[in-house]
Amino acid sequence: MIDDGWPFHSNLRLFVVIIALGIVVYLLFQTRTPPVQLSSWPGNQTGDIRSDSGPVPIAGEAVPQSGRGLTDPNPPAGNPLGMSNTVMTQGYGTGSHAPAAIWGAIDLAIDSNGDGAADPDGTWNTPIYATHGGVARVSRDTWPAGNHIWVDSGRYRTGYAHIQEFAVEDGQPIQRGQIIGYVGSTGQSSGPHLDYQVWQDGINVNPLEFGALDGAGG
Ligand SMILES: [Zn+2]
Repeated sequence: MIDDGWPFHSNLRLFVVIIALGIVVYLLFQTRTPPVQLSSWPGNQTGDIRSDSGPVPIAGEAVPQSGRGLTDPNPPAGNPLGMSNTVMTQGYGTGSHAPAAIWGAIDLAIDSNGDGAADPDGTWNTPIYATHGGVARVSRDTWPAGNHIWVDSGRYRTGYAHIQEFAVEDGQPIQRGQIIGYVGSTGQSSGPHLDYQVWQDGINVNPLEFGALDGAGG
């Protein structure tokens, strides 16, 4: 009698144990899976079809703000194209740069013939200079930003999109003024330009407040 009943009980026990383990594993994954992100750009290959790009704001650490740039030894400063004939082809928070909290950027190109408008021939492969020091985060073939670089110094993060060719590698320490790449039209872009972003304490801010067009218009 015992021998007849035992296999059934054994199978039942095994079944219960497997179900219990399944529940435990499920709960572990539930608690360990990070919250769903509304956007994972850069690296999001399927998402937004905007012509320009920016990441979802990262929940910043609560850093006391005592004036922009005053507490960071290394704030972004200057024009990432470094040329007096730099022109802005799309402003901050407008068009594909809206809403600014997510997509805020400015588009920069070169007016090589002095007619006041950007021209592609003069813009292709213009060197891009880091506007502050930090660590490079290089992403190739992202959508919609194309070849993209973050320069991250902790409090500040600058973004450079649609790059034609990289001049630095992922993880490389970057000095302000260093050439990090060359202007292109990779990703979702209608022509060569630099999409330039500045993030402070995880918040998208206007690059013009950091001198992104300083020296331009001459
Ligand atoms: Zn843009």
